[in-house]
Amino acid sequence: LFETEPDPWTLDASSEQQVAEIVFADPPHGPFSYRIPATLRAPLAPGQRVQVPLGKGNRGVIGYCLHAGSKSVGSRPLKEVLAVVDPQPLLSPAMLRLAQWMAEYYLCPLGQVLHAVLPAGVRGQAGTREMTFLSVPDDVALKLDQLKLPTKQLDALRILAASPRPLTPPELAAAAKCTLGPISELRKKKLLRAQVQRIQNVEIDIAATPREENLHLNVDQQAALDVIIGALERRQHRAVLMHGVTGSGKTEVYIRAIDEVIRFGRQAIVLVPEISLTPQTKQRFSSRFGSVAVLHSHLSDAERHWHWQRIARGEVQVVIGARSAVFAPTPQLGLIVIDEEHDHSFKQGESPRYHARDVAQRRALAENVPLVLGSATPALESWQAAQRGEFLLIDMPTRVSNRPLPDVATIDLRTEFQDRRSRGAISRPLHLAMEHALREDGQVILLLNRRGFSTHIQCPSCGYVANCPHCSIALTHHREGDKIVCHYCDHQERAPAKCPDCKFDGIRYSGLGTERLEAEVKSRFANVPVLRMDSDTMQKPGSHEQALAKFRAGEIKILLGTQMIAKGLDFPNVTLVGVVNADTSLHFPDFRAAERTFQLVTQVAGRTGRGDKGGRVLVQTFSPEHFAIQAALKHDYALFANTELPVRLEHAYPPQTSLVRLIVRGDEESIVEAFAEQTAERFRQALELHQVAHRVLGPAPCPIARLRGKFRFHALISSAHGEPLRQCIAKVAASLQAPAEVQWVLDVDPLDL
Ligand code: ADP
Ligand code: ZN
Repeated sequence: LFETEPDPWTLDASSEQQVAEIVFADPPHGPFSYRIPATLRAPLAPGQRVQVPLGKGNRGVIGYCLHAGSKSVGSRPLKEVLAVVDPQPLLSPAMLRLAQWMAEYYLCPLGQVLHAVLPAGVRGQAGTREMTFLSVPDDVALKLDQLKLPTKQLDALRILAASPRPLTPPELAAAAKCTLGPISELRKKKLLRAQVQRIQNVEIDIAATPREENLHLNVDQQAALDVIIGALERRQHRAVLMHGVTGSGKTEVYIRAIDEVIRFGRQAIVLVPEISLTPQTKQRFSSRFGSVAVLHSHLSDAERHWHWQRIARGEVQVVIGARSAVFAPTPQLGLIVIDEEHDHSFKQGESPRYHARDVAQRRALAENVPLVLGSATPALESWQAAQRGEFLLIDMPTRVSNRPLPDVATIDLRTEFQDRRSRGAISRPLHLAMEHALREDGQVILLLNRRGFSTHIQCPSCGYVANCPHCSIALTHHREGDKIVCHYCDHQERAPAKCPDCKFDGIRYSGLGTERLEAEVKSRFANVPVLRMDSDTMQKPGSHEQALAKFRAGEIKILLGTQMIAKGLDFPNVTLVGVVNADTSLHFPDFRAAERTFQLVTQVAGRTGRGDKGGRVLVQTFSPEHFAIQAALKHDYALFANTELPVRLEHAYPPQTSLVRLIVRGDEESIVEAFAEQTAERFRQALELHQVAHRVLGPAPCPIARLRGKFRFHALISSAHGEPLRQCIAKVAASLQAPAEVQWVLDVDPLDL
């Protein structure tokens, strides 16, 4: 940012002033220059936040200071910094540089990146010590249904009553989608209990249990560990890709490496998919290391702030968290680990649309520390980097203690359902295998990647199909609440008994979701305890952990659900995994469909055969010959990668190219389309002008062409030369003038199309 212009900061001119360069989270993002008045009490440094006047009204707005010092500004009159918000910088120079890199790479404003790097709790409460926590007194909770209150107040009260922990007023307002008004009304009416807590007292359990006996590492594990320790000792960046089948002992290697990091007096960050942040994961690390900070999405702002401060003060040696933990302010970073590195939750779905793996790599490089990526099914991006020698590949092809990988077989749905005895979602061979597993006192996992009861609602008389009025997506019937629901915008209606168009009263509900599967399993296995796990049943914080605990304890015999159940769970007593329909992800209009299917089937297959009883996997599919399914059957990642990579090359898709996606949306289809066309054309011209070999696909309507009432078009711009591609796009983007009702975004390295 400051390198491109002649450096005005050091000029020794008479017009020199104390100036701060400020950026903002919201538009206009800046940077803008402000004069630092001599009257300002606190010194100002990069990484601190300030209050400055902005816009015509000179509203006081919070911004981030990027630079402060003497600068020649000529005769330009500058506005003055009003106040310094943080007594200390919230961001170190290293984190500022990382944010700068993200802004450039992901083509988004630096202010927006800084806003994402700092958790809300830290932004909101730096400097404050006390927080108010609200809860509902028992006597109020009991008479909740009899209370006569305005809807908003009642909603807020209900949500708080259902919450497993007290909430701060802003948290409750966010959860109830209301302002603070209704909440203070409730407090005045004494319907809420308010408790003031000092932040230092936020409860946290540090399990300082004794260290486990160190296992004797096998050859592969030792090789991985040696590389990591070598890099640590030399203070070198090194990226290691541990391609290890489920149960090959990857986590054990992370733990040993972290041991070393701590001996060196440094800290480690471990990123795991959000869904894997279970007490089991935490337990495994805290039993080795005692003080572990766990950052997850159910933390309150105050808790997050508390963790952040402890990490920054160097009081915690190990940080475990989802995506955003890559920004943990460890003072002396020693190692970053990313477990299940292929997981899509490492990519942020909103701006800045960063991928934690790439940010971690950048950070590890800048801080000269090793990066360890682990997966049984690496993302092709990582695999490719390993093939090119950028990552060191370590293969761990066998499970520890020579446990066999589970036996995987397909059930061909084309022929199976010609057999009269196969009916419903569960074919006869799968039913028999379930019976067998249960008889032997094993447990069963069933995967179906669609929630709801029926996924297709159609009138056989006139052909009417129930679609969302705001999105181009079919509505799903949920038996719970008897409603039809849009899974994209949450639009809900009562489930119609008659066709809304022609009034024919035999409207047909078909298509299989987890609710229907649950009903089928219950009717087939009448006295067997079943649990359904999907985002409908797992809405409350903590419900996921509770469900897993019940399954582990054996209270539940059959666990069924969406991909939620496929991740990283270790249940020794699971002897059968059934994939109800492997094709749901195979026919998505997305070039990653095969990769996703391979990953899902392999991951869920890895949930069995972990104990002494062994395990098997049955995959129901209409395309048993598809290479993604064949490769999963054989536990053969190389077969998958070697078949898929040439396809990506042929079609110029990642990881063979870099990809940037332009998404344009708005109320008027023709305006949206025209703007998408114009913009794509300007990208094309810029790339041609700079002689960057490229390809532009589209613009075309997005696979979901209408979402939340907005029309959407997208274009995919790819090139084998990522750097110049992004530069050209950045240049054009900086000068784009969209019509008022049109919004556009750029997604660099998009994951979901
Ligand atoms: P992954 O992370 O690859 O799925 P884990 O590290 O969880 O594998 O190891 C699977 C199981 O094997 C765990 O219960 C772990 O304690 C155990 N284990 C790991 N390494 C060894 C070893 N070298 N010797 C014996 N048991 C091991
Ligand atoms: Zn919708």
